[in-house]
Amino acid sequence: MDWPQRPQRTLPLNDLSRCEDRDELSAAIARVLDSGWFLLGPEGAAFEAELAGYVGADQAVALASGTDALELAMRAFLPRGGSAVLTAANAGGYASVAARRASLGVSWADVDESTHCLTADTVRAALTPEIGLVVVTHLYGRPAAVDEIVALCHPLGVAVVEDCAQAIGAFTASGPVGSRADAATFSFYPTKNLGALGDGGALTTSDPGVADRVRKLRQYGWLGKYDIAESGGANSRLDELQAAVLRSRLPKVAGWNRRRREILASYREAAGGRVEVLPVQAGHAAHLAVCVTTERNELRRHLRALGIATDVHYPIPDHRQAGLGAGAVKLPVTEILSERVLSVPLFPQLSDEEVERVAAALASF
Ligand SMILES: *Cc1c(COP(=O)(O)O)cnc(C)c1O
Repeated sequence: MDWPQRPQRTLPLNDLSRCEDRDELSAAIARVLDSGWFLLGPEGAAFEAELAGYVGADQAVALASGTDALELAMRAFLPRGGSAVLTAANAGGYASVAARRASLGVSWADVDESTHCLTADTVRAALTPEIGLVVVTHLYGRPAAVDEIVALCHPLGVAVVEDCAQAIGAFTASGPVGSRADAATFSFYPTKNLGALGDGGALTTSDPGVADRVRKLRQYGWLGKYDIAESGGANSRLDELQAAVLRSRLPKVAGWNRRRREILASYREAAGGRVEVLPVQAGHAAHLAVCVTTERNELRRHLRALGIATDVHYPIPDHRQAGLGAGAVKLPVTEILSERVLSVPLFPQLSDEEVERVAAALASF
């Protein structure tokens, strides 16, 4: 007999239950349980050394989240306040929220139309004497032009921090992201290319003074126990369980990123004329597969009808967010792109059939 056709299960944007390294994680977790040491212990120290080595920085400081890493970086570079941070307005608002938490002003530069990232030209056009720090986000895993931005900013006495939350494993022509500027921040939120089983973050730097300040700031500003040497301290420690999980996963990032690039390339190749999938470029960590189209609602409906989930990264630019003090600033490219971007499923555990399903859906639009 003929069975009625079952509706296809919706393909999610991400599926963290496809945990291919479950056994290794269980072993890592058991190791921590057996040790009885849960905060600032040997797993965290080993992870810091391994992460620093991975990105080519002298030091890494493990923290509780990527947003904390941004905030503590800002506090370390602009300790007296009164200075402002410049960043992009299309990167999810994390750097702007961090600047507010650090009691700093924040302003925004526009982004490049093809890369969606800051460039030396867009930063130059937005720099003012108040700005002491520029946060460059390697958006969607694409390495931004951080080398050129450093070359612009350093002679002016402006520090540069890379936001590598979406870009672990990416590299520019001069080397891996995470060691291209004065410091860099990472997030290990579960959906990132290196994800923990909860929250996590880190800062990397080759400036011993900055590493030292952030080590104090992550634990109440303590120089030693109960000795508060630094103001603006927080409780922002990465726990030993997460550190052990991240140590187990770090060696897999390169392979996972390779699979991500492969998937992204097949989407781009398949997409028809009404939609462009942002390309894979050299050194790309392929965190998100982002389509650009002037017919976003139609594309979204088309994909939904075919059982494919989508999301927008990000729908409201920072300078239009009420909670960031929305004002009269105009960022024409940022605003246009926020109306045209649409993300489709991209994670290393997608099967070939699922990749083909998304590619075919993009082709048939
Ligand atoms: C995820 C993310 C962050 C924030 O990280 P959390 O760990 O969630 O605080 C910062 N910047 C970018 C670009 C991100 O994608």
